[in-house]
Amino acid sequence: MIKCAWTSTTGWSTPTLEPYGPLSLMPTASVLHYATECFEGMKMYRGYDSCLRIFRPDRNARRMLNSATRIALPAFDPEELQKLIEKLVSVDGEKWLSKSRPGTFLYLRPTMIATTPALGVQKPNEALLYIIAACLPVLDQPPQPASLANGTSTPNQPPRPPGMRLLASQDDTVRAWPGGFGFAKVGANYGPSLVAQAEARARGYDQILWLFGADCGITEAGASNFFVVWRTREGTMQLVTAPLVDKVVLDGVTRGSVLELARERLGGEVEVVERKFYMAEIVDAVEEGRFLEAFATGTAWFIAPVAEIHFRGVDLVLPYGKGVESAYAVRLKTWLMDIMYGRVEHKWGVIVEETGAGAW
Ligand SMILES: *Cc1c(COP(=O)(O)O)cnc(C)c1O
Repeated sequence: MIKCAWTSTTGWSTPTLEPYGPLSLMPTASVLHYATECFEGMKMYRGYDSCLRIFRPDRNARRMLNSATRIALPAFDPEELQKLIEKLVSVDGEKWLSKSRPGTFLYLRPTMIATTPALGVQKPNEALLYIIAACLPVLDQPPQPASLANGTSTPNQPPRPPGMRLLASQDDTVRAWPGGFGFAKVGANYGPSLVAQAEARARGYDQILWLFGADCGITEAGASNFFVVWRTREGTMQLVTAPLVDKVVLDGVTRGSVLELARERLGGEVEVVERKFYMAEIVDAVEEGRFLEAFATGTAWFIAPVAEIHFRGVDLVLPYGKGVESAYAVRLKTWLMDIMYGRVEHKWGVIVEETGAGAW
């Protein structure tokens, strides 16, 4: 892991490379009481050309700066954070992602916590930045509909059809609100969402579809952004996702990349729209046969087609849940994977030179 400490009097210390291991904190440390914590999530990819890549790391570094300053953690130069991330990858990449296994990835978790040992509710004057790597399962399901799925069954469990099943949040539970911090990747957004998430799991759903407001506006799905593809009543094909304006929705790197690729490569066939949209519009589009697909996007789940949404007592089965291919999700995912795994050269796929530990 890479560690870098900060104090208000001395600024950032020289970063160190250390074996992964426990941290030492005082029980009064600010982070343990006041949620002064933020993080990033990204991956390093072993490409089919043997190169090691990270995807748009400048985006993660800038977002981490936004998150940190939202909760009074110290600012930093995002380019310096990107250098540290690249350093960990260049030192340790080969150990975890062998050149003999192209198409594999490892998750990276830059984290910042306030370590100030004082219970006073105030802006921290000590902090620690660290970067760790971790294994993460492949969470995006095979992009094929139920009718084609080659499910493996165990004696007592029928194969689960593919596709995410979402449980719409209840009126009394809100993930984020205007003026809050939903746009920031701060720990305070996630702990309080776990009760709803556990309920979704217990009822057989994968994630919560987070709604906002009396009119059931769509925001995000779990810790992923959410897209729909539908045809308007006038016959226009649209790719729609919630806007960033209220700072309620997280500015996902995958979200931004999907929007850019769609505008660039699907412009002729699909109108790309960032606007507020509502459950009633989804229900209407499904009922009127205008709904094509929905998918969640994020580093962890990548691009995951949605099969079903449970909303106010009704299971709304989307075309994917009935065996229709999630065609746009597949195309967007293929384009992104081609960049991540070096099947095409693209400025978003940043190659990291592998130096091993000697070069630290
Ligand atoms: C991390 C995250 C996302 C996805 O962001 P990516 O940069 O695409 O990984 C979306 N929503 C929330 C709430 C998140 O925490």
